[in-house]
Amino acid sequence: MAAAIKEEVRRDAGELLRTRGIVPGLAFILVGDDPGSEVYVRSKGKACEELHFRSATERRPATLSQGDLLALIAALNADPSIHGVLVQLPLPRHIDEQRVIEAIDYRKDVDGFHPVNVGRLSLGLPCFRPCTPAGILEMLARSGNDPGGKHVVVVGRSNIVGKPVASMLVQKQKGANAAVTVVHTGVGDIAPYVRQADIVVAAMGRPRAITGAMLKAGAVVIDVGMNRIPDASTKSGTRLAGDVDFASASDVASAITPVPGGVGLMTIAMLMRNTLLAASGTLYTNSDI
Ligand code: NAP
Repeated sequence: MAAAIKEEVRRDAGELLRTRGIVPGLAFILVGDDPGSEVYVRSKGKACEELHFRSATERRPATLSQGDLLALIAALNADPSIHGVLVQLPLPRHIDEQRVIEAIDYRKDVDGFHPVNVGRLSLGLPCFRPCTPAGILEMLARSGNDPGGKHVVVVGRSNIVGKPVASMLVQKQKGANAAVTVVHTGVGDIAPYVRQADIVVAAMGRPRAITGAMLKAGAVVIDVGMNRIPDASTKSGTRLAGDVDFASASDVASAITPVPGGVGLMTIAMLMRNTLLAASGTLYTNSDI
């Protein structure tokens, strides 16, 4: 599915170049040397290369001041060859993440984290939709698992996955229209909620926390988790694990996404789609300024 989306984006980007001479440009800002962030930015940069997008990675040391980061964002906001600005999270502790997100021009906010886009998302208005939740809805639609009328239980309420995916699923729109329950550490035992779900979206950051025994037979399981766990059999001594115990869950589920090779690939494909949308200028026009 991710490959199909990227192919669609490649075709539409070709059209944008032919008709208007525009090459989509995406800037990554990487502060510090978090190994996870390094990997994510590399795969996003590779996707840009595949689709012939322009991409620029601005690397800065962990000691970068908040003021200097805001100045870098302002420069990218003003650069006409850059259509999307992405600040890789997490940021070093001394930097106020929300302040940084709000500094990005919402018309270049291809991550969909700026309050303008978050607000428009919850109102059901056109906006940059955050990539991971958008990828999840796309996967459900393309796999024939329409969430309409279904009970979806979202485990996790982060601003980047849990809350926006719930907000999207509850919209009175095609590909959404679900009954949504969001659970988190505040509810205590999540198992009774998860057991009622037709569709489970696990975004908790706890390796293999959702097991087959917790699922209703035939449930559709979307595993967002990307957790590094020890594994002596690998060269690095670690491997990636999702929030779902794939072995037991796949016996009970009617469909399940793997980790790696599931939601992560969709996230990147949706980022490419958002960048193309930003470059085309069709979402926000000058009259929105
Ligand atoms: P996060 O900000 O750490 O939020 C985790 C959420 O899960 C919180 O709302 C937390 O509840 C809840 N939670 C944690 N343990 C729980 C438990 N035992 N029972 C119930 N709820 C629990 O994480 P995130 O940024 O949303 O990411 C979640 C996972 O997805 C991580 O593994 C991350 O690496 C991965 N991820 C993957 C992609 C991708 O492209 N595949 C993208 C983004 C994130 P409280 O709010 O009560 O603390």
